Amino acid sequence: LVVSNWTEFRKQVEQIYELCKKNEQGQVATYIPQLGQVDPSNWSVSICTVDGQQLNLGNYQEYFTIQSVSKPFVYAIALDHLGQDTVHKYVGKEPSGKMFNELILNHENKPHNPMINSGAIVTCSLIHSMIDSFGNKPSLVFERTKEYFEKLAGGLHVGFNTSVYISEQETADRNYAISFYLKEHKCFPSNSKLSETLKFYFRCCSLNVSTSVLAAMGSSLANYGINPLTSEKIYKTSSVKNTLSLMYSCGMYDYSGQFAFEVGLPGKSGVSGAMVIAIPDVMGIGLWSPRLGKLGISEDVSIPSI
Ligand code: GLN
Repeated sequence: LVVSNWTEFRKQVEQIYELCKKNEQGQVATYIPQLGQVDPSNWSVSICTVDGQQLNLGNYQEYFTIQSVSKPFVYAIALDHLGQDTVHKYVGKEPSGKMFNELILNHENKPHNPMINSGAIVTCSLIHSMIDSFGNKPSLVFERTKEYFEKLAGGLHVGFNTSVYISEQETADRNYAISFYLKEHKCFPSNSKLSETLKFYFRCCSLNVSTSVLAAMGSSLANYGINPLTSEKIYKTSSVKNTLSLMYSCGMYDYSGQFAFEVGLPGKSGVSGAMVIAIPDVMGIGLWSPRLGKLGISEDVSIPSI
């Protein structure tokens, strides 16, 4: 067993959970109005080890939108089908040191990495216009992508939040601005369509998950692409390796360096307050607390002493 003394482990995680529950700092994101409707006191944690042991705390059955936690999983799909050389012709591998939705490109006029909005929008355009087996039609591309998420969830339900999707589309000026900036700098493959790419990006962000789902998804990365609950091989090992590297260096936007310093694990945050952590060979962790710090992520990583 990866965690041999499960009872003791559970006790320690419960203690940390309770201590963190007392932290009421931070604000729920409101720039997507529908996200602002969420009860800020939600707090759930789930763990799924690479040998399939599961732990769930708080309201782990409650669903929320995955938001940017979709980015590493979408990037891994692109790698799986197109290979790293093709994908990285379009997107870099360096942290940007800027906010997630910054209008900025690297010195080669590419988005800095696939974990920020600009890079994820480009990754979405690659999936939409370059993976022929996905059908090249918006409905089919989304269906194939959602199937990946369902496999990663190991049989747990993955939903779609229509209200958040509509809300985000209505208030998407910044993501439109980023996309036109990308188009101006010829960042997209020649046959890609900006409006379809953006809709696909918003759809990926509007997938509905719980922390149990996120833990199962994270454990699939921790287990080199094989979901521990179903034993299904979902991603190529090389895709997982690249994804974990960029989660480690870029997964927390302009907090990535500090997160790597303090926690030292590959992770990804989202504006819904969702977070996934993958500890290679050990476990996936899913967390959800809608309150965010001033950088727009779940940034207070100081672990209380127990
Ligand atoms: N859908 C959000 C956006 O594009 C995702 C951002 C995030 O989770 N940080 O703004």
